[in-house]
Amino acid sequence: MNRPRDIGHGPHCVACQHPEQVGQLLAEHRAALDRYAARARLYRQLGEAFRERTLTTRATDPRWPRFQELMLRFLGDANAIASRVMSDRAHLDRVEAAHTPEPTTEPR
Ligand SMILES: [Zn+2]
Repeated sequence: MNRPRDIGHGPHCVACQHPEQVGQLLAEHRAALDRYAARARLYRQLGEAFRERTLTTRATDPRWPRFQELMLRFLGDANAIASRVMSDRAHLDRVEAAHTPEPTTEPR
């Protein structure tokens, strides 16, 4: 038999306020993070493509500064998004752990 943990994070904790929706809310947030992670991978691919262009284009080529700018922008955005996704996934793991009912041991 499972029972809810004796926790109370206060009125700011959505999971405490809506315990019946915790699973659904976590799933929705995780799905959104998966979409953000996919965007980060796409930005990384684009950044790497522009990195390749900067390496294979002469620095005197008038396009070179634009290639470098796009490389830095896409790689920077990819890193920022991936970092945020990692941080938010860790937060969701902590929320889930704190709000998952723990099994009780039945007295014999
Ligand atoms: Zn809570």
